[in-house]
Parts: sequence; C-alpha cells; structure tokens
Amino acid sequence: MKQHPQRPARVDRSLRPHHAAERTVVALIVLGMLTLFIFVRPQQPANMTGAEAAQAILDFRDNMPDASTAERIGQVTSGAAAADVLEVLGANATDAAAAVAALRQTGLVDRKRMRPGTALTAYFDESRMEGEASRLIAVSIKPNAKNTLLATRQADDSFFVSVLTARLVTSHRRAAGMIDTDLQTALVAAGGTPAHAASFAALFPDDASLAEGGHRGERFDTVFEVAEDERGNFIENGELVFAAFNGVTSRGSWYRYTPGDTGRTEFFDANGVAAQPFLTRFPIGRAPINSGFGQRYHPLTGQLHLHTGIDFRAPAGTPIQVAGDGTIAFMGFSEGYGRHIRVRHKRGYETLYAHMSSFAGLAKGEAVNTGDVIGYVGDSGSATGEHLHFEIRRDGRWVNPMTLELPSGRNLASDPAELAAFMKQKAEIDALRGATIATEVATAVTVLPVMQPNSP
Ligand SMILES: [Zn+2]
Repeated sequence: MKQHPQRPARVDRSLRPHHAAERTVVALIVLGMLTLFIFVRPQQPANMTGAEAAQAILDFRDNMPDASTAERIGQVTSGAAAADVLEVLGANATDAAAAVAALRQTGLVDRKRMRPGTALTAYFDESRMEGEASRLIAVSIKPNAKNTLLATRQADDSFFVSVLTARLVTSHRRAAGMIDTDLQTALVAAGGTPAHAASFAALFPDDASLAEGGHRGERFDTVFEVAEDERGNFIENGELVFAAFNGVTSRGSWYRYTPGDTGRTEFFDANGVAAQPFLTRFPIGRAPINSGFGQRYHPLTGQLHLHTGIDFRAPAGTPIQVAGDGTIAFMGFSEGYGRHIRVRHKRGYETLYAHMSSFAGLAKGEAVNTGDVIGYVGDSGSATGEHLHFEIRRDGRWVNPMTLELPSGRNLASDPAELAAFMKQKAEIDALRGATIATEVATAVTVLPVMQPNSP
C-alpha cells in the first residue's frame, strides 16, 4: 500500500454528542413541542417561533441518508485486514486507512479480539466519486457480541467513531446433575462450560479426584451467570456464582459474593464464612525482604532474569516453617537453590524453600502441617548471603507470593450489614435453583449511530 499522510482520527466513547445526533435530538424536541402546542395552544410559543421550528425540522431532514448512499458488506478474516476489505468494497486507500485507524483507537478492533469472519459494512456516497473510488462516508463493524462501532466521516475528512454497547442483561442459569463419566462432561451436558468445571473443582480442594473428573454417582449443583441482550438472546456464559457438591470425600456449598468494603470477590459458605487460607506468605514470620518477585539483575551474574521468589533476610539457623499442609515432593541439593525442599499442597500449589543450612530430619514423601519446622536458614547454593529464598508455584508456574490472592477465611458475621447483603444474595441464588431471575447490570454508553456525515 502507498504511503498516505495520516489524517487525524477522533474516538469518543463518552457521551459527547455527534453534531447530527444533536440536531436529531433538537428536532425531536421541537416536534414534541409542536405537538404540545396543538393541545395547549399558547398565544406565543415560549422559546421558538413557528419559522424557527420549521427550520429545525428542515435541518433534521438534511441529516437523513440520501438516496445515493450505498451499503456494501465485507468480511474481515485472518487473511484480510479491515483496511483491505474496505478497499475491495470500493474505498480509496487513504479513506480506508483513516477509517480503520479511527476504529482501532477504540481498542476493540484488533485481530486477536475480533471474531474471525466479522462483518464490516461500508457506506458510500455514490453521487460523489473520488477518482475511480466512491466516497466512503461511514463504516460499521461489530467486533464482538456486545459492541457495534460506527466510524463516520467528518467535514475535515477524519473519521469519528461512536461505540454502541448493547445493554446486557445478566441472568442466571442452573446446571445440576450427577457425574457419570466425569464432572466436565456432566456439567457441559447440563449447560455449563469446561471453565465452570475447573472453578467448581477448585472449590472442593479436599477431594483431589474431583479435578481429575470425580466419581460416578457424585452430585453437583451450580448456578452461573449468563449474559443476554435485551431480547433475551444468549451472548455468553459468565462466572460460577454457586457450587454445591455431594461427593464421596467432600461435600458443601459455596456462594460467590463481593463484600462492599474490600471489593474482593470470593466464595463463602452458607453462613458467610470464606474458605481458610491454605498457605501463608511468611514462612519465617515477618522478616525483612531483600529482594522481591519479578525481573531483576542477578547479584552474581549481572544478567536480567526473573527472580522466581521472595528473599527474606534472616540469620543462619532461623527455623523455616512450612507454609501450608502438604507432602514433601523434593528434598536435596542443587547448584542454584543449594539445600532446598519443595512441598506439594492442595489446589495445584507448591512451595519451595532454598539456601538452607540444614534440614529438620524429614524425608521425601512425608506429610507436613502448616507451621512445621522443615529446615534452617543458610547460604547454600548460589546465595550472596544468609537468606531464605521462598517460592510459590501454581500449576507449575511461579507466582508472586506477595500478590497471590488466597482465601481470606473471613467471617461476614462480624459485620451485620455485610452479612445481611450476603444473605440477600444467597436467598436469590437459592430461589434460582428453581427459577430464573434477571437483573440488569450493564448499560450502554454512547452516541446515536448517524449514517450521514457532516459533509461540506
Ligand atoms: Zn531468591
């Protein structure tokens, strides 16, 4: 494609009215006023003369799409970018690039986020040919189920983008049943998703077999969010809001709730008590942190690398207490970590303790409980001084022990207002387990779509 001067593209996702939209609104108000005048018959119209009102209606007509507007529809695919599609539909390269640049500024039009085969509609003013191409006056595209974007050409030839967000209604659905082959199959058959099965299994960590599919005959009950448009058309499945399990080794009910004070969403039992934290972040108490998690320059090699844990400064011999219940998965020596122990916990978590001076006489495979002393701080392996290097891994990946969200163990009963709000929400979920309610959660931001730009 040739190089073209960049034209300014404006994007507005707030309620800044488009000129034509503004005039439409004015015209509608005027029409409303005229109707009122018919019934009220004032001697003198308060704000506007009849001539002024007639002029406003004429302006309104000026903004209706005229007969020479042509609409052409193309498809954006992995092989055809939006700008190319516009050119194929008849736009010149400059207009195509300007319209697409404006659309992209919304952050909604990139190939990763758009569904393959997304339709794009281009509107042309056929009465004004520009060379061999028709004059592009507007482009509309629906990159996802929720949003429709409309880029309209402005007097200065830039494109102004309006984002139309569908009013989504969140309703709830229940999926309940019995495991036949495995949890995921049963939940999907009942209307849930594989993601719901994973969230469900994580809520019952005492049953290690549940993540693997559970046992035949175990019963589950779930309620999850479903996004629908105003006509009740399904848009997408949302989060699990309730999970009950009656299994061989584990049973219970969990309700999702977001306390108003912390804003932190987690699951609470029927009495409003969150799951207990199963790990601590501080295996040697509140020791000073020498080095945090993340990218850093290695103190010995000088190279930038990921620091996979937290370094707690402490004198040699300080006892190290295991961060949670689990079993010792590794105990031994390596060049980097020195003398170290890796412990496997529930929910796919592991913790690792490195640079120890000595172990506390345990063995691989042995069960340990939160707070058990497993070894002592030292500087074995590649360490610049005496410290504990502590790691947490989730499903084999390093996570930041300081920012990791762990269950809080919070009891809502200590805050009556919070408990009442929780109980109200719980009652709604319980009621749903027989019926379905809908609550409106999202509302639209935007400007009216206007097909006709303010051409000079
Ligand atoms: Zn470290």
